[in-house]
Amino acid sequence: MAGRESNRALQPGRSVAGTNLEFTRSHNRRVVLDTVRRLGPVSRAEIARETALTNQTISNIVEELEQAGFLLAGEPKREGRGQPSIPYAINPEGAWSLGFHVDHSAIIAALVDLTGKPVAIREIPAQRPSPHSAAPALRRLADELTAEAGIPASRLLGAGVALPVRFGVGAITTAGPTTLPGWDDPDARQHIAEALAQPVQIENDAMAAAIGERLHGVARAIDSFVFLFLDEGLGAGVFLGGQPWRGASLNAGEIGHMIVAPNGKPCPCGNRGCLERYLSLSAAQEFLADQPGAPALSELDGAPSAPVERWVADAAPYLAGAVNILESTLDPETILLGGLAPAGVLASLIEKAEPLPMSVGSRSGRRLPRLMAGSVGHHTVVLGAASLPIFDEINPRFDVLLKH
Ligand SMILES: [Zn+2]
Repeated sequence: MAGRESNRALQPGRSVAGTNLEFTRSHNRRVVLDTVRRLGPVSRAEIARETALTNQTISNIVEELEQAGFLLAGEPKREGRGQPSIPYAINPEGAWSLGFHVDHSAIIAALVDLTGKPVAIREIPAQRPSPHSAAPALRRLADELTAEAGIPASRLLGAGVALPVRFGVGAITTAGPTTLPGWDDPDARQHIAEALAQPVQIENDAMAAAIGERLHGVARAIDSFVFLFLDEGLGAGVFLGGQPWRGASLNAGEIGHMIVAPNGKPCPCGNRGCLERYLSLSAAQEFLADQPGAPALSELDGAPSAPVERWVADAAPYLAGAVNILESTLDPETILLGGLAPAGVLASLIEKAEPLPMSVGSRSGRRLPRLMAGSVGHHTVVLGAASLPIFDEINPRFDVLLKH
């Protein structure tokens, strides 16, 4: 790896050093794309300072990426006496990507441009879809979205599928109300890829949302964070050192079943006192069922009602406890709370979790709050799913280097 000090003036976000060896061409291409994504528009000289690649390597890659349509050259800027510099930015129309959010009652599909902006979204009802029952519907949705936007299939980078799947964990996979059949079968991805005639990646909903957050959201410049994903259950997407942390069996972040109340409420997983029995939309609905006249959470918009605030007061200490555990275990830069709950409810949870208990996260001189709001809303997961092929194209991965 090149060892030159890179210029830190172009923060936010830490740069990844490139390398000039020929066999790492694709890695360097990702390093350049990632730099332009985070800091663009940027000149070749600025890319060189950030990546420690040689000017010649950068010129070659920038030319290649511009010809491929991934980068757009802006108006040349004259600074001082030297050659005018050309600022480069990601070309939104350089490529497109498909995302699918499959859950127990619906399939949402989105077509996004290279900057993650949705150009078409569609939703259809579905009944606990399996890979086999979903495949024809995904194909139909893909055809409809690309036709609507007038985009040829050849300009797609691929498709991402996000769902509430946990891999091979017996009880957790099958017992909860939020899981789906058949998706942890190793052939599921291939089956969908064949139906779509596109490369396909499958990811759990929380990690897909975290990758979307890293690529296009508030975590653009945050290398190590935990994205707490609140929906009917509770999951987390973990990023450490700029890379998703999936764990030995792809189940890292399955924090909904951390035991936070010994001998507490029974959970479908077989344990008692799991975190998501207190901090999730199903926990909220259960709490509100005992409160006369309480609104359904799905109907909430704006400030939470008094009964919802009572649930928030009940759940916030569990959130604070989870922050303490995650900080103590992972020492992230921040923890984001997002998901499918109404934004006002999440904001209230963050507020009521204060003061957070002491942990290594209590350190002084923090750049970011310990707990902050992440992406929320009905489309969080589908946009995260659509970001998977783009992330794959842009993210510099060190495992590529280590293989050589
Ligand atoms: Zn449980």
